Amino acid sequence: MSAPILNRRDLEFFLYEMFNVEALTNREKYQDHDRTTFNGAMDTAQAIAEKFYIPIRQKIDANEPTFDGEKIHIIPEIKAGLDAILLAGLSSPTSEYEMGGMQLPLVAASGAFAYLSAAASTSLGYISLTHANCNLIEAYGSEEQIAKWVIPQREGRFFGTMAMTEPSAGSGLGDLITSATKSDDGSYRVTGNKIWISGGDHNLSENIVHLVLARVKGAPKGVKGISLFIVPKFLVNDDGSMGERNEVALAGLFHKMGGRGHTSTALSFGEKNGAVAYLVGEENKGLMYMFHMMNEARILVGTGAALTALTGFQYSLHYAKERPQGRLLSSKDPHSLPVNIIEHPDVKRMLLTQKAYAEGAYALCLYGHQLADDEKTALTEEERKHASTILDFLTPIIKSWPSEWGPKSNDLAIQVLGGHGYVNEHPVEMFYRDNRLNPIHEGTTGIQSLDLLCRKVPMNNFTGYQAFLSVIQNTIDSTSSCEGLTAFSQYLADTVINLRDVTEHVLAAAKNNNPDLVFSNSVSYLNMFGHITIAWLWLQQGSIATSALEKSPHLDEQKFYHGKLQAMKYFFNSELPLTYHWGSLVKNIDSTSFDTQADWF
Ligand SMILES: Cc1cc2nc3c(=O)[nH]c(=O)nc-3n(C[C@H](O)[C@H](O)[C@H](O)COP(=O)(O)OP(=O)(O)OC[C@H]3O[C@@H](n4cnc5c(N)ncnc54)[C@H](O)[C@@H]3O)c2cc1C
Repeated sequence: MSAPILNRRDLEFFLYEMFNVEALTNREKYQDHDRTTFNGAMDTAQAIAEKFYIPIRQKIDANEPTFDGEKIHIIPEIKAGLDAILLAGLSSPTSEYEMGGMQLPLVAASGAFAYLSAAASTSLGYISLTHANCNLIEAYGSEEQIAKWVIPQREGRFFGTMAMTEPSAGSGLGDLITSATKSDDGSYRVTGNKIWISGGDHNLSENIVHLVLARVKGAPKGVKGISLFIVPKFLVNDDGSMGERNEVALAGLFHKMGGRGHTSTALSFGEKNGAVAYLVGEENKGLMYMFHMMNEARILVGTGAALTALTGFQYSLHYAKERPQGRLLSSKDPHSLPVNIIEHPDVKRMLLTQKAYAEGAYALCLYGHQLADDEKTALTEEERKHASTILDFLTPIIKSWPSEWGPKSNDLAIQVLGGHGYVNEHPVEMFYRDNRLNPIHEGTTGIQSLDLLCRKVPMNNFTGYQAFLSVIQNTIDSTSSCEGLTAFSQYLADTVINLRDVTEHVLAAAKNNNPDLVFSNSVSYLNMFGHITIAWLWLQQGSIATSALEKSPHLDEQKFYHGKLQAMKYFFNSELPLTYHWGSLVKNIDSTSFDTQADWF
């Protein structure tokens, strides 16, 4: 029997026991849904993943896209898989019916999409970027732009991209130099070079809708002078028919260590007269608009990282149950049969670590999806605002924690397979390579850590920070006297007190000291906050498991809940203590990195 893509019981635990997605059917948008439709979406996604993607995932990896100077070549199976997703209506499952969507709550859609993301990994980027591109145009574009560029994308005829990065403007987008000039007809002409643009060219759709950041001639320097444009690969006539080729040229493809299901392109805009471009919203507000797409993409990056970790965990778990090797220290008899490696305590440690990281990370992403849903559809204005405040605050953690710890989980999946994990006969080394992108794109971990500590924590007089810590406190209060959970609840409370203390000290120090020094341990702060957040999510899972076990369920169910409790214990005993180490580096403003001179290396 082959390894499952994901553990269906676990997905249902998240959807129905932890995030109670069925309760959302009391909202008007979701009133047509129930558990049957949610499970139906998961069944469809699972069937597509098993039929179209599992058989070819290593073929995708071994056959990266190529460019012969005229055309891009992509193995045909990628289009077949994407078509199956589009045909099933799973490309924009959360959209309104009139936009071709299924009006699924985000958490339920994420549960279904989980199978596709885990199995198809990087080729799904064509679909998720297109969805996020549409969401941005719907939020800030004109009616005409929605009709012309969103509808064909929702129908799956056009795909979309996000074109920000330039050779000399990666993390520092304020330095971008792609320029735009207004024409007499009100459109613009864009000139410049973009790199790393995912899905920037291919032959999978009729057209490609690039969302391009550029600077209108004469605009202020820095982030305040950036505008956002729709720049299509092919122009589209007023009647919707395809017009001539726009000046968007493929300058080359990147050869990546993983993520080979998705083209990564260098694009050249406007080599002759400038590429025809249409301004979205107002000039100089482009970066603010782009954050709509970036924030969505950041949650998707975290989710992709968590799912790649989850599928790697399932694969190595399956392997460990079937691979006989060695004997336990307690068994000295050479005539006895070797045990399956899952019996060795160190292999259990590696599996538990993966479980704690991967299921913790996925819980965090689903929480992010729940907040993103609540900020739009919660019943009261107060609830919507609360969700929006917390989501905005938590986004750097939702993006970074799964991206940092997901690859560590995949690293352990390789280790569980030993030498067999190091060769491409098994997909675990591919999972690691695919997942390794996630701490880099959509804002590196270093950039996210600065965003969290310097911006998100103090923002609006600490509103998001305080609101989120109150949510954690509610869980601490509700678990403090639960049998079996009291010590964990208390430990979490202690780490939150320490976090508050560290935060206070470092921000006070920033008032009178060089910020490069004071914030030089920002990644340790992100790790600390992230681990406390994951411990909070594990305490919730432990609390659900404890209550469920009290009802003495069926034996298989008991095993499932014991697994949850054990992973919670593991995270609290082996991981949460690290927050004190990270906290002390931040609080004491350890200057080792800051002090090191560039020419001392
Ligand atoms: C496969 C892939 C797909 C991508 N897809 C897209 C896409 O679709 N659209 C798009 O626009 N971009 C895309 N990107 C670009 C991606 O977002 C950038 O690579 C990323 O933002 C980092 O920029 P950079 O590569 O120029 O690295 P740099 O900005 O040069 O960073 C290098 C290192 O320096 C650190 N660093 C830089 N500045 C600071 C600072 N101020 N403080 C502390 N540390 C700093 C970084 O953390 C990093 O470790 C993609 C990248 C890759 C690899």
